[in-house]
Amino acid sequence: MNHIAPRRRRLVLIGNGMAGVRTLEEILQRTPHRFDIAVFGAEPHGNYDRIMLSPVLAGEKRFADIVTHDRDWYRSNGIALIAGEAAVAIDRDARTVTGALGSVRPYDVLLIATGSTPVVLPIPGHKLPGVVAFRDIADVESMIAAAGQGGGNAVVIGGGLLGLEAANGLLRNGMHTTVLHLMPSLMERQLDPVSSEMLRADLVDRGLRTILQANTAAFLGTDRVEAVQLADGTVLPADLVVMAVGIRPAAALARDAGLACNRGIVVDDGMRTSDPAIYAVGECVEHRGALFGLVAPLWDMAKVAADRISEVAETDYRPAVSGTRLKVTGIDMFSAGDFVGDDTTETVVYRDAAAGVHKKLVLRDDRLIGAVLYGDASDAGWYFGLILDAADIAEQRDLLVFGPPPEGGASDPVAAELAVAS
Ligand SMILES: Cc1cc2nc3c(=O)[nH]c(=O)nc-3n(C[C@H](O)[C@H](O)[C@H](O)COP(=O)(O)OP(=O)(O)OC[C@H]3O[C@@H](n4cnc5c(N)ncnc54)[C@H](O)[C@@H]3O)c2cc1C
Repeated sequence: MNHIAPRRRRLVLIGNGMAGVRTLEEILQRTPHRFDIAVFGAEPHGNYDRIMLSPVLAGEKRFADIVTHDRDWYRSNGIALIAGEAAVAIDRDARTVTGALGSVRPYDVLLIATGSTPVVLPIPGHKLPGVVAFRDIADVESMIAAAGQGGGNAVVIGGGLLGLEAANGLLRNGMHTTVLHLMPSLMERQLDPVSSEMLRADLVDRGLRTILQANTAAFLGTDRVEAVQLADGTVLPADLVVMAVGIRPAAALARDAGLACNRGIVVDDGMRTSDPAIYAVGECVEHRGALFGLVAPLWDMAKVAADRISEVAETDYRPAVSGTRLKVTGIDMFSAGDFVGDDTTETVVYRDAAAGVHKKLVLRDDRLIGAVLYGDASDAGWYFGLILDAADIAEQRDLLVFGPPPEGGASDPVAAELAVAS
């Protein structure tokens, strides 16, 4: 008797980045032969670890070191990679995706993982050559090219994690680098004012110039950027300007296709969009009103989407606290959870000014809910575990700020360390 094998289902992924490819890996683990998979990727590469762009800019790694999935990976998993061709239209009636160069792929299930777009300040001169973002390897290559053999002036707009990592990289490339930050303290979303000031002093020691409460008014230049003008009239020479003032979910394609979008593509707990045949993961999504900018939550989204797409389980995405580290060699910091507190919380602070160490722990009802560690973040994994587990710390409270007890702690520090975005 002749058996006709059922047609494999067609899965199309738009966005060949960290969240999308992680979801494919999870799907392949669950159901290796269920789908014919095609991937549209706007970037002309396989997939790479975007987080590691900072060490590439700083000259500590090469691009080849951070590639996580080369073209062989796609080939050996039977995945058609359409790299260097952005998807430009989703036809939800015909169930097809069309690329900028004319490729058309039909789907039974579509996964959107288009990530984020850097925010560009719409101020005069923002389109001048030499004004760049910090999002992909092409941005890093243009920064390294602008640095040339060293020398020249760079201005980084934005004193958050991304801006400071860019500034550190440019310094390492020999550029005189100034960070302009609108707020009164650097990395105010991750650091309390004390640790923020310690960080600023450490960066200044390395040769970075910082101007806080700086309001950028215009980029000056004719053929390319030559200077940055502040609202108070200050003019800073600039051969290169890096804008690192924030990101926005890349939701335009989904919006054009009529999917429900607010700031991001709206997904339910199962990572499904308003069209049941279309899922979305990563920084392009909005889940219960929240947006995303770190990888740890994306890994959880990938598992849920894979369970659902493979139809092996109906799991739900549950947001968890994420931790942050600054990837500047020699600067040891960690921040997680609510490190500000309010009138329902207690704060424990440890400060060793001579050693440059500051720790701030925020407690509520005998639970650790947030931490900032600066100068010595060696116990970050342990504290992060306590936060994630909502562990009762009543008995360790007095010694908590000194780190885990010698015999270990309430949580598994190794597991917790792995959970910290790294
Ligand atoms: C320099 C830098 C340092 C970072 N450091 C950290 C860190 O230390 N810790 C941390 O947790 N996070 C960090 N992040 C954030 C982290 O990289 C992101 O959270 C993560 O990459 C988001 O994954 P994603 O798949 O949603 O988006 P991406 O990884 O950006 O992937 C989206 C992909 O989709 C492509 N795309 C977009 N539109 C289309 C289209 N229409 N058609 C086809 N392809 C399309 C994009 O080109 C991109 O390749 C950093 C980010 C940067 C830029």
